[in-house]
Amino acid sequence: MSHEDTRVDGWYPPPVDELRRAIKTDFSLRVVAAVTTRLVAEASERHGLRGVEVVALGRALTAGCLLTTLTKHASERVRVELRSSGPLRGLLVDARGDGSVRGCLQRHLSSDEHAQLVARTGSASGPAGGSASGSASGSASGSASGPAAALAGSLAGVGAGRVAVAPAVGQHGTVTVTRDLGLDQRYQGSVEVASGEVDVDLEHYLNASEQLPSVLACEVILDREGKVLRAAGLLCQTFPDGDTAELEQLRGVLAAGNLADLLRHDRSCREIIGFSLGGEAFDDMGASPLYFRCGCGPERARQIVSTLGAADIEALADEQPQTEVRCEYCGAVYALDSAALRALAAEIRRGRS
Ligand SMILES: [Zn+2]
Repeated sequence: MSHEDTRVDGWYPPPVDELRRAIKTDFSLRVVAAVTTRLVAEASERHGLRGVEVVALGRALTAGCLLTTLTKHASERVRVELRSSGPLRGLLVDARGDGSVRGCLQRHLSSDEHAQLVARTGSASGPAGGSASGSASGSASGSASGPAAALAGSLAGVGAGRVAVAPAVGQHGTVTVTRDLGLDQRYQGSVEVASGEVDVDLEHYLNASEQLPSVLACEVILDREGKVLRAAGLLCQTFPDGDTAELEQLRGVLAAGNLADLLRHDRSCREIIGFSLGGEAFDDMGASPLYFRCGCGPERARQIVSTLGAADIEALADEQPQTEVRCEYCGAVYALDSAALRALAAEIRRGRS
């Protein structure tokens, strides 16, 4: 992604998404922060997501990026698969140690489901009123009824300023994380979905399945039109045999929805790390860029079609002049015309003979 200069009237967009690692100067905690605004916006645009869909996938994409930092392997690949009972059915994220990430929802909401969610929770839109103080007691600006008021009501158990995604994700299901370190080193673990808020469930996974005392919080802030305004996340862990008291304190702070409140303004990774450590000193271990990228391409599309077998591919070629294959992860569409399909079928038959 280019580093284009798009400043308007003194407004500077965040340059690129980045991930930054830090260690608290007293060596009690390791902290990783990620600013993922651009990649979440790109995923949202590619998949045509709206409201709560953006927040759910955005939290998962951000968490995926943070989860690639648990080892020092640059080739580490983390796959998150959430299967759940809600209308979204879950999501998939595939993040790599080189900073690339891709992901998709299992299912999109219909317009009716979207409207029902707005009516029930107001969570299909972003936090109402950018100037709200962050209190959940109905201080959001704007109309006192409708989505804004419903949102304030729905936040009571979630934290001020934080959109509840559980009604769309569902509160029953499984989160499976597969960690691929290359050279056949693979680790897979899973936990039951407990909250349906995505980041909370992945935090539960880290603590329960990988037994790493961790605090994980990821947030996506939408503007009034439902576009991504900011997205970021934070992963904080103790070192082996470390004291978890500080971590518990941080968990308390984040449980109150304070990351969402913090993101009412543009924040750098350094500011997010500073916030997590209550302003205490940390050693900056450096930053690396993050971006949405999918490894698909025309050849991958051909491979997918070839799994149908020669006879079915020939039937497709007879039925329609062009067959489209859509990549689930990034929404890219690859078109194969009848001639290409027949050539592929012939190749498969030759391979078998
Ligand atoms: Zn793709």
